[in-house]
Amino acid sequence: MAERVDWKTLDHTYLLPTYNRLPIAIARAKGNYLYDTEGNAYLDLFTGLAVNVLGHGHPTVLAALREQADAFLHISNLFLNPPAIRLAQRLVACTFPGKVFFTNSGAEATEAAIKLVHKWARRRGDGREGFVVLKNSFHGRTLGALRLTRQRAVQQDFPTPPVPVYEVEPENLAQVEAVLRAHRPAAVLVEPVLGSGGVIPLSDGYLQALEGLCRAHGVLFGVDEIQTGMGRTGTLFAYQQAGVTPDFLLFAKGVGGGLPLGGVIAGEKLADAFAPGDHGSTFAPSPLSAACGNAVLQVLLDDGLLEEGRRAAAYLRERLEALCRAHPDAFEPVRGKGMMLGLPMKWPAEAVRALQQALLRQGFLFDVTQRTVIRLLPPLTLAPDEVDAFVAALDACVRQGMPVPGPTE
Ligand SMILES: *Cc1c(COP(=O)(O)O)cnc(C)c1O
Repeated sequence: MAERVDWKTLDHTYLLPTYNRLPIAIARAKGNYLYDTEGNAYLDLFTGLAVNVLGHGHPTVLAALREQADAFLHISNLFLNPPAIRLAQRLVACTFPGKVFFTNSGAEATEAAIKLVHKWARRRGDGREGFVVLKNSFHGRTLGALRLTRQRAVQQDFPTPPVPVYEVEPENLAQVEAVLRAHRPAAVLVEPVLGSGGVIPLSDGYLQALEGLCRAHGVLFGVDEIQTGMGRTGTLFAYQQAGVTPDFLLFAKGVGGGLPLGGVIAGEKLADAFAPGDHGSTFAPSPLSAACGNAVLQVLLDDGLLEEGRRAAAYLRERLEALCRAHPDAFEPVRGKGMMLGLPMKWPAEAVRALQQALLRQGFLFDVTQRTVIRLLPPLTLAPDEVDAFVAALDACVRQGMPVPGPTE
């Protein structure tokens, strides 16, 4: 008989308590489902926080992983890394002319961008420094990235480097203009859909106007597509729907197909800002991650999953909008794009948490952000019957009224 392990107690004993985890221990995952050590299945509407865009165990990704594992796992940056070079070539071909710097994570991509923009500004020598960022933005948790993250709950208690940062309200162009007139920031950086800030999409008009202001003032225009990228919002990157061209783009999360990988695409203005020795990483880009990244792009772009995902997302949205209309006392209107949707609830945070746990017990896994916003980050492979099952379960829970909060797990 298999030994029963009390994973929750072990977790609390040996891991620093930086997360308020849901009480399920995962044994395996396949397609759109996770399976816990008790044998329960969960429809995965969370995808490892927007990472598993193709679902779990996609055969193309696994084949690339195995092939690369047989070839080599790690070589450092002192030699040429063919899978990574191929991935950079394809990322640039799909976005805008430029060059890539690879990292292991999103926060490291933000760090690289901070240094890159700093070098660009220093070379221009016109005193420009720092970033304009949005209120409630999230750009990572390392100390440099934390400086650009504008969520008090994430930022408080920690020192951050003295990079000048100017915080403005999303969609408020007058504030950006005022900052650009009064100060000398080097770059504007935005998430096209604010993720952990509450799933708040920026309008195309706002992004276009931001780009225009940046051009007019000689400031770089950057997008953080760490969460919105890799097809999640319906195009490979979300900025592409607004018809703008950023000077730099941050990517991570979905790009490695489940393996750690991130980076910056630096447009032509920034492509020669770094010289040898300016920045580096022992591990990044892992050849394994890069090989998986090439497989992810193949599935999205060559095998048509991007297109399929758009259709799947349109159905999900239609069903959620109907649900919200049916329960105007429980929900604000659905917001977000593609497979990155927010269902803001009018219930208190404890009731939303209890709802999340009730649905978890019924086999549906999703995130709640900003305490009361249900954040759905499903795989692009989500099937219509899975949408129906989730919406029916959510509908039934909401009909029962606000759940009484149980013991916090
Ligand atoms: C997740 C995220 C990051 C940080 O990525 P990590 O890999 O967790 O460091 C930065 N920006 C955005 C928009 C994110 O969603």
